[in-house]
Amino acid sequence: MNYPSPPQNIIEFSRAFSTDKACADYLFSLRWPRGYSCPKCGITKAGPIRATPGMMECENHHKISVTAGTALHRTKIPLSVWFHAAWLVATHKSGISALSFQKQLGLTRLETAWTMLHKLRGGLVDPDRSKLNSFCGDPTHSEHWVEVDQIEIGGVQSRADRDARGSNKAIVLVAVEVHKWHGQMHRDASKSRSGDAWHTKAGRIRMRVVASHNTMDALTFLRDNVEKGSNVMTDAHGSFNLVGPLGWQHEFVVAKREADPLATHGRVTTNLKRWLMGTHKGSVQPQHLQAYLNEFVFRFNRRDLPWIAFNRVLALVALERPAVEYEALYKHTWIHPNPRPNWGRNGQ
Ligand SMILES: [Zn+2]
Ligand SMILES: [Zn+2]
Repeated sequence: MNYPSPPQNIIEFSRAFSTDKACADYLFSLRWPRGYSCPKCGITKAGPIRATPGMMECENHHKISVTAGTALHRTKIPLSVWFHAAWLVATHKSGISALSFQKQLGLTRLETAWTMLHKLRGGLVDPDRSKLNSFCGDPTHSEHWVEVDQIEIGGVQSRADRDARGSNKAIVLVAVEVHKWHGQMHRDASKSRSGDAWHTKAGRIRMRVVASHNTMDALTFLRDNVEKGSNVMTDAHGSFNLVGPLGWQHEFVVAKREADPLATHGRVTTNLKRWLMGTHKGSVQPQHLQAYLNEFVFRFNRRDLPWIAFNRVLALVALERPAVEYEALYKHTWIHPNPRPNWGRNGQ
């Protein structure tokens, strides 16, 4: 394997990706880490077409673009602009709105910025990602569990409106890995004199929009996202009744008895709501909510490794799978992936 190593800071980034050719070469090495082979005939004897960066031609004269069949299929936007976009999505601490994205990249149309962001978001779910669990091997941690609960998002509406059209709140199931330990908050603070205490922190997270908070949705979400045998903590909602019998170690937390039940879950979802309200002014259309959740989850799970995240965005974008098109987004026929839509290698 010959994966390129990502730039570590903005200076390295600008140096590495100043031309479309440099970006194309990088994408080639992410997409064909063992070296190029023609997708049409399989032969490896091929060379770049000088006049068009990102195009290869094999000895049988098949011309293939590095973006063909990927999230960037038939893009007219220069690769260097896409790389800047991927960098912003991966490293921007709190995510970025279409409007400031448009300004930063100097795009003339807001629709272009909006579609670009959705194309990148469409690539942010890793089809091979592993499930959450409570089996962390860190010997300094004393306890682990996964907190699972539903939250409601959006839907500020008048009473009359709600009576007339029903609630427009979206229901989202959220799972959060929790690590608990006794000692200093940060490992590198071990020499400080402040006393030891119990701490918890969030590990990885998963989120899914569901039609309603029922047993089937809750169990499917768990099956897809949390390893069996893990310790799972939920509130006393009836939809979680079968969690124990079906193979997870289940513990109910009752709000009346616990001062702050599912506290880590609460911290994560408060951040999510703040981000949706702040960056997107709460104006997320319900049919696109899953895409925003995918973006939040992606960044959250890589919050300590923004430059690795950048590589990951590009590697996921370079996978062969259907691209998000403006038409489909606009007509709402595009379904945002989560967690295993019908795409991927070998049609799996
Ligand atoms: Zn060929
Ligand atoms: Zn741990």
